[in-house]
Amino acid sequence: MERVHGTMVRAAIFLFLMAVPVMFFLCLPRAEAAEFAGAWKYREGGAFDSTDAQVLQEAWLESAMRGDAAWTSYGFPDHPRLSSSSVRDIWVTVRLRPDWPEKNVLLFSLAEQSIRVWLDHQLIYSYGSLADASHAGGSRWHMIVLPELQREVQLTFRLHANDVWQLGYFNRMQIDTEAAQLRAIYLNDLPYLVSLPVALVLLLLMMGYYVKRIAWRRLCAAICAFLVFFILWLICAMNMKYIFFDAPAFWWYMMTGLEYLFPIAANWILYELLERYLKPWAMGVIASYAALFFMAVAGELLGFSGMERLMPVYYILLLLAEPVAFIMVLTSAYGGNPYSRAVLIPMIGITALGALDALSWYFYLFSWSSFVSSLGIYFFALFMLGMLHEQFTMEKRVSQRAIALREKREKVEAQAILGPLTGCYNRARMENLRERAIFQSEQRGLPMGMMILDIDHFKRFNDNYGHEMGDVVLRGFAEVIRENILPEMILIRWGGEEFVVFCPACPLFTTAAFAEVVRGRVMSAVLCEKQQVTCSIGITLWQGEEDTAAEMFQRADQALYRAKESGRNRIAVEL
Ligand code: GH3
Ligand code: MG
Ligand code: MG
Repeated sequence: MERVHGTMVRAAIFLFLMAVPVMFFLCLPRAEAAEFAGAWKYREGGAFDSTDAQVLQEAWLESAMRGDAAWTSYGFPDHPRLSSSSVRDIWVTVRLRPDWPEKNVLLFSLAEQSIRVWLDHQLIYSYGSLADASHAGGSRWHMIVLPELQREVQLTFRLHANDVWQLGYFNRMQIDTEAAQLRAIYLNDLPYLVSLPVALVLLLLMMGYYVKRIAWRRLCAAICAFLVFFILWLICAMNMKYIFFDAPAFWWYMMTGLEYLFPIAANWILYELLERYLKPWAMGVIASYAALFFMAVAGELLGFSGMERLMPVYYILLLLAEPVAFIMVLTSAYGGNPYSRAVLIPMIGITALGALDALSWYFYLFSWSSFVSSLGIYFFALFMLGMLHEQFTMEKRVSQRAIALREKREKVEAQAILGPLTGCYNRARMENLRERAIFQSEQRGLPMGMMILDIDHFKRFNDNYGHEMGDVVLRGFAEVIRENILPEMILIRWGGEEFVVFCPACPLFTTAAFAEVVRGRVMSAVLCEKQQVTCSIGITLWQGEEDTAAEMFQRADQALYRAKESGRNRIAVEL
C-alpha cells in the first residue's frame, strides 16, 4: 500500500508539472486576424412569415450592405441589447475586408440557435431550422470556409432561438487559417485532456477501494459518483466529442444536468467526512440542490426549459450554500478532523479556478476560450492522497492497537486456563488436553498414562492451620508435581486438592515410575512446616479407541480409592 501511495504522489506531481506548460501555452497571446472591418450592428425581428419572405430577406440583406439606420451598432464581443424578452429573431452584420488568402476560415460558437450566414446576398452557411431551434440546442462550434475575397463584403448572420436567453450571443468569433482554427478548437480541449486521465486513475483507485474496504464504503461511493460526473462533464466540455457524436442538444442536456448534479455529489463527500453534529447542515445543502435538480428536470419535461431557466437560481444557491459548506468544513478542520483539512485543498482550489473562469468568461480576459476549472481535479487528487495517507496511518494505529489487545487477551486467557492459585490447566480444558495427549501417544505408537493425585488428609491442614496454610500446601504440591514430571506431561487441577496428570507416550511402567518419584518428593519436601504432607496416586492407562474419558476417570479414581484404603501415601493401579 505504501508503495502504491508513493507512486501516486509522484504521478500526481508529474501530471501537475505537465499542466504548467499547457497553461503557459494557453496564455500566449495569439495574433488576431483583423479582417473584420467597421462596427458590429444588429437588428431585431425579421422572421418573415409572409409569402414574400424571400423578397423581404433580400431587402434586409440589402439594407445591411447599405448600413442604414435600421441597424444599431454595438461593441462586439458584447451582445446586442434586446428590446424585450419576446424577441426570438435577430440579425447581426459586420463588414469583412480582404486579408491573406490563407486566413479564410470563420470560426464561432453558438448556443441554442439556428443560423444562416451570408456574404452580401450569397448564402454560405445554414444550421438548424429558422422556425424552431430546439434541435439546435446546446453549444456548438461552427467552422465556415470563406471564398477568396476581392473586395470588402457584408457578412450577415440571421439567428433564431426558442427563447431569449442565448439570443445574439457568440462565444468567440474569429477569422484565421484553417490550421489555426483547428488548433483553437483542440486547444480548447487541452485542460480537459490533461484532467481526464487523472480523473480516470482516481476513479479506478476509488472503485478498487469500494470493492475492498467495508469501513468507508459510503465515502468511496460519494467520491466515485463525483468522479463519474466529472468525467462525463469533461467529455461534454470537449470539442472533440463532435467527431464521435454530433448532437449538440444531447451534450447540452447532459452538461446542464451534470452541473446540477455536481454539487450534490461534492456535498455528499462532505457529508461523509463531517462530524455527526454538522451532518444535518450538509444534508440541508444536499437537499436544496437535489430539490432544484428535480424542479429543473420537471420544468424541462413540462416544456418550460426548466434546466435553462433555473440556472440563475442555481447560481444563487451556489453562492448561498457553498459558504455554508465552507464554514462547516472549516469548523470541522479547526476541531482537528484531518479529512476536513484535506478537503479544504480542493474546495479552495476549485473555487479559485471557477472564479478565474467566470472572470475570463465575463470580461474576455484571456485569449483562450477554454475553461480551466477542470484542472481542479489535481487539487482533488491532493485531497484524495491526503485522505488515503490519513487512512493508512489510522489503519496502522488500529492494527498496532489490535496487536496490543490480542496480547492482553492472550494473557487473560492463559490465566483463565491455568487458574491463578496453582498455575495449572483447569478442568475446563481437560477434554482438549486429553485428546492432545492421546494424539501424541498414537503418533508414537505408545500407550497414554494417567494419574490422579490427592493430598492425604488435606482437610486437616485447613482445619488446623487455616485456609491460608491450605492454599500454601496446595501451591507447593502443584509445584513439586510440575518439577518432577516431563515437560510434555500435562498437569491439570481437577478440583479441590486433586490433580490429574496425562502422560503422553508413557507405558504403565513409566507412568508408575513418575508417580512414585512424585510421591517420594512430596513426602520429602517441606510443604508445611507444622506437619508432613503426603499424597496418594491412582494410575490407569488409556485402553484405545473404545475407551472414554469417563471410564478412564472411573478407573483412576478406583485406584486412588484403593491407595487411600490401604493406608495412604502410596500409588495404586487399575487397568
Ligand atoms: P483424604 O486423605 O481422604 O483425601 O482426606 P481429605 O481431607 O484430603 O479429603 P477431602 O477430599 O474430604 O477434603 C478436601 C478438602 O480440601 C475440602 C476443602 O475444604 C479443601 N479444599 C478444596 N479446595 C481448596 C482450596 O482451593 N484451598 C484450600 N485451602 N482448601 C481447599
Ligand atoms: Mg480429595
Ligand atoms: Mg485429600
